[in-house]
Amino acid sequence: MNASSAPSTPSGTRLADLQIDDRFLRELPADPQRGGPPRQVHGAAYSFLDPGPVSAPRVLAWSADAAALLGLAAQPDDAQLAAAVFAGNHLLPGMQPYATAYSGHQFGNWAGQLGDGRATTLGEAIGAGGQRWEVQLKGAGRTPYSRHADGRAVLRSSIREYLCSEAMHHLGVPTTRALCLVATGDGVVRDMFYDGHPETEPGAIVTRLSPSFLRFGHFEHFAARNDIDLLRRLGEHTLRHHFPELMPAQGVPGEDEYVAFFHEVCRRTAMMVAHWMRVGFVHGVMNTDNMSVLGLTIDYGPYGWLDNFDPMFTPNTTDQGRRYCYSAQPQIAAWNLACLAQGLMPLIDDADPLHAGLELYRDEYERHYLAMLRNKLGLPQGGDVVDGAARQQGAEADFALVSALYACFNAVDTDHTIFFRRLPLAEAAAGPDAAFDAVADAFYAAPSDSARRSLGEWLDQWRARVAQSPEDAASRRARMDASNPWIIPRNWLAQQAIDAASAGDLQPLERLMEAVKRPYEERAEFADLAARRPDWALDKAGCSALSCSS
Ligand code: AMP
Ligand code: MG
Repeated sequence: MNASSAPSTPSGTRLADLQIDDRFLRELPADPQRGGPPRQVHGAAYSFLDPGPVSAPRVLAWSADAAALLGLAAQPDDAQLAAAVFAGNHLLPGMQPYATAYSGHQFGNWAGQLGDGRATTLGEAIGAGGQRWEVQLKGAGRTPYSRHADGRAVLRSSIREYLCSEAMHHLGVPTTRALCLVATGDGVVRDMFYDGHPETEPGAIVTRLSPSFLRFGHFEHFAARNDIDLLRRLGEHTLRHHFPELMPAQGVPGEDEYVAFFHEVCRRTAMMVAHWMRVGFVHGVMNTDNMSVLGLTIDYGPYGWLDNFDPMFTPNTTDQGRRYCYSAQPQIAAWNLACLAQGLMPLIDDADPLHAGLELYRDEYERHYLAMLRNKLGLPQGGDVVDGAARQQGAEADFALVSALYACFNAVDTDHTIFFRRLPLAEAAAGPDAAFDAVADAFYAAPSDSARRSLGEWLDQWRARVAQSPEDAASRRARMDASNPWIIPRNWLAQQAIDAASAGDLQPLERLMEAVKRPYEERAEFADLAARRPDWALDKAGCSALSCSS
């Protein structure tokens, strides 16, 4: 368990005393049937259920930072109770477990009802400072939305979600959080490579926290069923509790408020995706049921991180068409927002403001992305440029500089994270050769003469650009270092932690969690985790690409 960092808020709440108060349950209608077999659920936003008990729950990891959000201690105050609660074996007073109904578009096609097939919400906990957190188990067993699957999750995918949720938070990327990881003691059968060789793997459950897990798909669900009454009730609930600033002074939200809501989702999604691009994160399954209306990264599955910069990098081996590759993410988010717009149409009845929202998304994305690229490269933000044409010209020049860099990356495999992190050293270098050497650690192979020449020219150009800037080198470097992580939880690092944990050794996971907590800080003791992807990791399952099986 992770005992290192103290919680950021004073904590003193015992787990047994966690306050639960579920507004979602109070305000939206329940499926009359509790639990039961997978089925189409109509006229309800959720189904109550009893999580299937597991045989030997044990807390494997506990995030002190996430626990602090709930006012809980840096270590569980009662490990046995924590294991039982976060495995779904024991309910605290006020907990009424349920799974919600949603639909969605998967890989560009309408998929109909999906729903929480293996997620069970225990309740809304009132955390530190009165902030509410939906406490959700992932992998707690079958629900009415499980379709043909078992509702369970394997240890490897649970470690990946636990690790990445917390790492993304520390990277400054909007995300849901992970409180803990519990081993169930039960086996789960998975055919990892979908090649007819199923194996029994250890099962686990991640407890996730978010102000809400509402997705684009929740809205699409009721719109597709023409259940306008429920769509409206869901909309009202969402605005009242999650976008209170958009609520009219009196009464219920109307068209204007729903337009404002859509525009806000567009803004937040733009910000989230720009951050993904900045840190080199590829979500892997950007279906509309995996998009949060709060603009949070949600549902960590076959995600990946850029090692060498490859715009087509697609970690999910099931995504043969590379629909969700790194460079497609901004465009896919727009496509998904268009689906949400369609879901909101019955509440707005006018397509124009929805189109305007999609335009807003594009503008906001470009604005954030440009600002982040300028920070990554240490270029001036241009805030003082008031003339519109000059601003446009500045943006074009900066995008051109970035395109030229990406062309260099195309000529020699270059580690995205290491290159950007080393770039300030190239500024300080005595001459072109030293500048080149400063970033050479980022190369996966020796560059050809022409690749060397092109990158040398690019570095000259970049050095000339920053030399013109009025900003001093130290503040530029600080800005670059705050935008370019030194360490990210690359897939091969996660896989090493998984292999060890599967053999009973949690130390590598704990160490990796510790390292990714301060991702912008260079700490010598973690240097091996900030290195280029080793060659062995290129073809090993889970280390670069991985299947959907989880
Ligand atoms: P995903 O693409 O992982 O977000 O999942 C898509 C849908 O499949 C969601 O409705 C999930 O709840 C459901 N699902 C995925 N894995 C399982 C599982 N092992 N058991 C039940 N439902 C699942
Ligand atoms: Mg999902």
